[in-house]
Amino acid sequence: MNQVKRHVETKFIHGSQRVAAGSGAVNTPIYLSSTFHQNSFDSFGPFDYSRSGNPTRQALEDKIAELENGTRGFAFASGMAAISSALLLLSAGDHVLVTGDVYGGTYRFVSEVLKRYQINHTFVDMTDLDETARAIQSNTKAIYIETPSNPCMNITDLAGLVKIAKANNCLTFVDNTFMTPLYQNPLEHGADIVLHSATKFLSGHSDVIAGLAVTRDESLGEKLAFIQNSFGAILGAQDSYLLLQGIKTLGARLNQSSQSAQVLVDYLNAHPLIEKVYYPGLTSHPGHTIHQRQAKGAGAVFSFQLPNREIAKAFVEHVQIPVFAVSLGAVESILSYPTTMSHAAMPQEEREKRGITDGLLRFSVGLEYTNDLIADFHQALQAAKKHVGISISV
Ligand SMILES: *Cc1c(COP(=O)(O)O)cnc(C)c1O
Repeated sequence: MNQVKRHVETKFIHGSQRVAAGSGAVNTPIYLSSTFHQNSFDSFGPFDYSRSGNPTRQALEDKIAELENGTRGFAFASGMAAISSALLLLSAGDHVLVTGDVYGGTYRFVSEVLKRYQINHTFVDMTDLDETARAIQSNTKAIYIETPSNPCMNITDLAGLVKIAKANNCLTFVDNTFMTPLYQNPLEHGADIVLHSATKFLSGHSDVIAGLAVTRDESLGEKLAFIQNSFGAILGAQDSYLLLQGIKTLGARLNQSSQSAQVLVDYLNAHPLIEKVYYPGLTSHPGHTIHQRQAKGAGAVFSFQLPNREIAKAFVEHVQIPVFAVSLGAVESILSYPTTMSHAAMPQEEREKRGITDGLLRFSVGLEYTNDLIADFHQALQAAKKHVGISISV
């Protein structure tokens, strides 16, 4: 029987492992076992010890490999564990190019940990391919990309960067957290490793901290498997199960949240108190065309700029539905303030160079009724305007 073609949204639910062998359970069993009995003295079974491999984690690793069209998947204890483990593929004396507005935790790992092991780096604005190519050194072994980036949604041309990487024998790593396999498949653009903070959209319920990695070719997969087992920052069986459950609804969740994001963005874009909206779905976004070429959706995260800190504060204090917190990609909308949350460690001058002003807020759209969110934004903006007594004419 020929297999019916499966779109990625079908694969979220039915992977190649459809039901558990034996019982027919539609959900993957949680194997809470650190060790596995070996039936034969001479040849051991597929699992021996759960750091090296666990059937529940294996189901998740196979699932993400299939979704990203890679050869091998890996599940880690956090997004940072996945990212750090992948960067441990580098050796002393190597150099890595990193996107300038990289996730704060990655910034910290590269600049404060890798450096101590003589693995050096250059941060570069990857929206500019020429500048990126010029930053390559004779010992550059990897290029590390995030697109869209956080919080200003800068877009990097994946195929363009992969071309530069290949011409210089560099590996390409892509953090695909914001897009997920629903909207963007970096391996198809020639990237070597795709990384996820699965804490965000893949899990989707603000309950799990997890990271995933997928390699394009088998030999790199072998190397990352070796590091995963050596370093040992693996995801436990119960969290692997929760993540498998989260992935099942990813298509419905992200499509719905992205639709709401577009409606909210259009509302904010027309609001006189809003100075700027950052969202790759806007035709006015400088990376819009490139993003459309390499991704199937604009996603559920956007940022918007209010005139100053005081108005941003009043907005946050008056908005009622979203939680005010770090993180993103959940069923509940999450409002965050990059200046004191994700980018607190960055000096003000560096922040402002990147567009992260004291009036900037980031919003991750959840699954609430869209018009409730609009109404909430509307009343909070009105209140913020009144609260500051407004010398601004709106
Ligand atoms: C949250 C996040 C990470 C880090 O993931 P953790 O699961 O928190 O360790 C890395 N990259 C991006 C883009 C993120 O949003």
